[in-house]
Amino acid sequence: MESRIIEIPAGVDAGTHIPVTTIRGAREGPVLALIAGNHGYEYPPILALQKVRGRIDAERLSGTVIMVHVANMPSFLGRTVYFSPVDGKNLNRMYPGRADGTVSERIAFAITREVIEKADCVLDLHCGDGNESLRPYVYQTVTGEAELDERIARLAPAFGIDHIVVDRGRPRDPARSVYCSNTAITRGKPAMTIESGFLGSCDAESVERIVAGIRGVMRELRMVEDGPPPVARPIHLDPVEVLSSPATGILYPLVERDQKVAKGAPLARITDFFGTEVARVTAPFDGVVLYVVATPPITEGQPVACVGAPRTGM
Ligand SMILES: [Zn+2]
Repeated sequence: MESRIIEIPAGVDAGTHIPVTTIRGAREGPVLALIAGNHGYEYPPILALQKVRGRIDAERLSGTVIMVHVANMPSFLGRTVYFSPVDGKNLNRMYPGRADGTVSERIAFAITREVIEKADCVLDLHCGDGNESLRPYVYQTVTGEAELDERIARLAPAFGIDHIVVDRGRPRDPARSVYCSNTAITRGKPAMTIESGFLGSCDAESVERIVAGIRGVMRELRMVEDGPPPVARPIHLDPVEVLSSPATGILYPLVERDQKVAKGAPLARITDFFGTEVARVTAPFDGVVLYVVATPPITEGQPVACVGAPRTGM
């Protein structure tokens, strides 16, 4: 087991560092990258990797596991939701990054080169950010390339979360991959974004779900012999829509995470700063609330909720 620090030197703004563990197994096998903390206020993935690190037996491992413990150190130590306290950018919109950019772009560049390009499979681990009340789900990206899509489709239920978002909207250009997991996918590697946890909390269930899910994926990739089986009857959500706020003000959620909603049902109301209602956000179709923002600040254009329609007949 090797612990190392990827240094991000100061450039146009302050530098930072990325703690990485590499575990090389006794036998040949794939390289699996596990990335936590692209969003620094999302704690269950970070805590899950602390546990996973101690539970992998290199003698019984086929292949290599690379763990990025905290991708976005400025946001983690600065306790910021979505955006870096240094450059104001969302790290998970900066991939594949730039060597001469601001700190979020330089982090993305280093993770692309030193982790994603060295991996055969990538899991980007997230949860509801500090403002998001979220039920667990994974994103299954569909690219249109049959073989890659088949490999991603096998990965999705292996994580053990029964709600799978079918995601067709990701960029195809490796030079403009935007998202961490999509950086792997645009380079021909199966990858997946995972969501488990909510509202900046560290509940044991959300953490253990990630620990078990990683083990399930390692079993699916034949890196270990034992682990939880894939979900037998996953619920595919298609379509899925993120509803953004039409106004800036104070947000009052009207639903809970995982709540079933009918088309047109109010999801949240937004008032101005004097208490007058200025907008409502409603469900675009019958579905389930994957997440809803559950803290008061809301800015025009930012997400309020995400609703997915369970696909029948699968
Ligand atoms: Zn996130």
